Amino acid sequence: MARITIDDVTKRFGDGDDSVVAVDDVSLDIKDGEFVVFVGPSGSGKSTLMRIVAGLETQSEGDIEIGDAVVNQLGPRARDIAMVFQNYALYPNMTVEENMSFGLKMSTDMSDEEIEETVTSAAEMMDIDKLLDNRPGELSGGQQQRVALGRAIVRDPNVFLMDEPLSNLDAKLRAEMRTEINRLQNDLGVTTLYVTHDQTEAMTMGDRLVVLNYGELQQVGTPLECFYRPANQFVAGFLGSPSMNFYEGEVEGGTLRADGFDFDLTERMQTSAGDRGALVLGARPEDISLHDEPVTDHEFEAVVDVVEPMGSISYVYLQAVNQSHDQTFIVEIDGQRPISEGSRVYVEIPDEDIHLFDAA
Ligand code: ADP
Repeated sequence: MARITIDDVTKRFGDGDDSVVAVDDVSLDIKDGEFVVFVGPSGSGKSTLMRIVAGLETQSEGDIEIGDAVVNQLGPRARDIAMVFQNYALYPNMTVEENMSFGLKMSTDMSDEEIEETVTSAAEMMDIDKLLDNRPGELSGGQQQRVALGRAIVRDPNVFLMDEPLSNLDAKLRAEMRTEINRLQNDLGVTTLYVTHDQTEAMTMGDRLVVLNYGELQQVGTPLECFYRPANQFVAGFLGSPSMNFYEGEVEGGTLRADGFDFDLTERMQTSAGDRGALVLGARPEDISLHDEPVTDHEFEAVVDVVEPMGSISYVYLQAVNQSHDQTFIVEIDGQRPISEGSRVYVEIPDEDIHLFDAA
């Protein structure tokens, strides 16, 4: 097991005007045994950063340390890591047992009995011990991914690297494997880096999230920290589904003048915002309340555009009555609450659920 240090790492692909900065001066300390999830939209540099840690890609600048050693000059094999990919990367002509034991036979001096014992125990851990004589083609996607994980476990590596391992599975299996990988990581305590663009995986897996956008580190924190205290508008919009609502406005004398409503920020101005200027107010759909009548002096009036029933909840799409631009925002309400399209409502955003961001 090992800690990992990513120190001022930048990766450029190509030269001159055509070059792409895939990873932009990222520094990060990952503790021994920690489960860290790299999350961000497609193209944000997650895989490149992981591949640099793996030694599959060479950084343009910066250092990678695994354990206490700088590993910049070491190839993937010498870094003692095990990788799991979304396409499983199993050998189709080998049985499950052969797939799992192949690496051990090639690169260790373990006896045949020791290898068999190790494979059996990993197969039991992944609940694939009945499949050891099957070939990958005879297995479901979920079972193949279990084999790929089993193969990573038998290597007893310093570090697990997992690149979107669940993206080829259907929703139900994905949920099952999320739990399985969490359990596995917890039981084995192996330092794990996990790449995903899926915010559900990001929120439910891992001790800490590393949120990336355009190769730049946006926030590092526990999933709850990133969700409840997003460092910027990007993180706020990326985590949460449906996304946080944003209202841009100008702050004057403690009031945010947005399109279609004013918002009194005096309570918050002392702590979290500058005196005046452009600001973005954010509010999550589940934090906003809709009233039939005005009940506080904090509401603004809106018209119900569309109601989308989801079962226990409904999503209500609204437009502020006085707005001059076409801006829809989403509010989550109880699924049993009657509300009709075209009706007028009063929108309340509780003070404690307001997020403020610098305007982009
Ligand atoms: P993610 O994993 O977040 O989807 P990647 O790390 O794959 O993002 O890519 C980050 C950026 O680097 C993208 O703009 C991508 O096009 C670019 N990139 C990745 N690999 C290469 C490569 N081998 N050659 C050129 N550009 C690349």
